[in-house]
Amino acid sequence: MKVLVVGGGGREHALCWAIARSPRLTKLWCAPGNAGIADSAQCVAINDSDIDGLVKFATDNKVDLVVVGPEAPLVAGLVDALDAAGIKSFGCSKAAAQLEGSKGFMKDMVAKFGVPTAGYGRFTNRDDARAFVEKTGAPIVIKTDGLAAGKGVTICETINDAYQAIDDAMIGGKFGDAGAELVIEEFLRGEEASFFAVCDGKNVIPLIAAQDHKAVGEGDTGPNTGGMGAYSPAPIFTKTVEDRVMRDIIVPTVEGMAAQGHPFSGVLFAGLMIDENEHPKLIEYNIRFGDPECQVLMSRLKSDVLDILDGAATQTLDQVTPEWHDETALVVVMAAKGYPGSYEKGSEIKNVAAANALENVKVLHAGTKMAGDKLTATGGRVLGVTARATSVGEAQKRAYEAVDTIDWQGGFCRRDIGWRAIAREQE
Ligand code: ATP
Repeated sequence: MKVLVVGGGGREHALCWAIARSPRLTKLWCAPGNAGIADSAQCVAINDSDIDGLVKFATDNKVDLVVVGPEAPLVAGLVDALDAAGIKSFGCSKAAAQLEGSKGFMKDMVAKFGVPTAGYGRFTNRDDARAFVEKTGAPIVIKTDGLAAGKGVTICETINDAYQAIDDAMIGGKFGDAGAELVIEEFLRGEEASFFAVCDGKNVIPLIAAQDHKAVGEGDTGPNTGGMGAYSPAPIFTKTVEDRVMRDIIVPTVEGMAAQGHPFSGVLFAGLMIDENEHPKLIEYNIRFGDPECQVLMSRLKSDVLDILDGAATQTLDQVTPEWHDETALVVVMAAKGYPGSYEKGSEIKNVAAANALENVKVLHAGTKMAGDKLTATGGRVLGVTARATSVGEAQKRAYEAVDTIDWQGGFCRRDIGWRAIAREQE
């Protein structure tokens, strides 16, 4: 099978690494890829936003399956364009992508399907938004309807903070068009986890859960990032929780989307809040693998990933049962100093091969390129150092051993990835 992966981050390196293990694979390309991905795929210089270029490449090269990594090309309609050209793909249609692309759409849909989620209202008018805040009380959550690079959510401790957040978005234009409409939500309490399921429009199979660390600083402090680390399994995600998530959240969504004429295909990533009684509520849907969660999922996956991806593309997921390593996988993200603020590009990274040589360690690249024979950093999040071991504590130890093997003066990482799960392990 000839496969093209679209994207060039850590998630896509994890996907390429897993796809390259498949006996079904005959050729693997990645567009645009990065210096690490070049180990397992041939990188092609086509941007993930160039829909025409990607369709042309897939047609010219008789690609059997296109695997779309990031959300932006899905929201822009890449899968619809590939369908029109008769090319199979893993990912959802532009219409179904609104589950991530519009928070208002997502909330309206899941409310219709009876999925447990925070109470909410949708607003394009400042006075109506203020009235809703006054009625609901604080804490309260103000969200931009559209994608705002992970920065469109404000948790407001007081009603005045909420009024300010409304004005920032609706009058100050802080989020551009994404903030013209707001979704205002009841504040949920509990512990967060991410759960992944794969759908083919009709069938849906559970993958596994993970927990990530969004904040830049140790102890989960400081500004939010794209994710500084993750691990799987997530101890909070018990069998009871998984059964409830599948029964009350995932299955009604997949059935509901099909009934609405927007069958969902690809990976459904549920951001969940789990309370002390093991009752999960949906916070958000993403329509793609998480980054860095994908790195730990692919580290734990025993089965052939192409059976899953191709099963979703060919409506044959009912014949697929993925198998997983029972061990814990943990990823530590190494980022450029200064991230998530401004940071320098181009610093050299050494000794990645020595880190990769450690047992059950894989260094997945998110933002790297070769400058001559030197590996250099090109982004904010640069490497995802992934390790697998028999406990979260052991996986953490092994991951930091690999981190400490890497010589990168321009980088930093959090030193406490997995702390919550390790505390549970020690209870
Ligand atoms: P991301 O970039 O992380 O996908 P996003 O911009 O799509 O984020 P959400 O996932 O909806 O936005 O919210 C971001 C974070 O805000 C959540 O991970 C959660 O910590 C917090 N959050 C969102 N909604 C609520 C809620 N109703 N109650 C409590 N916390 C919430």
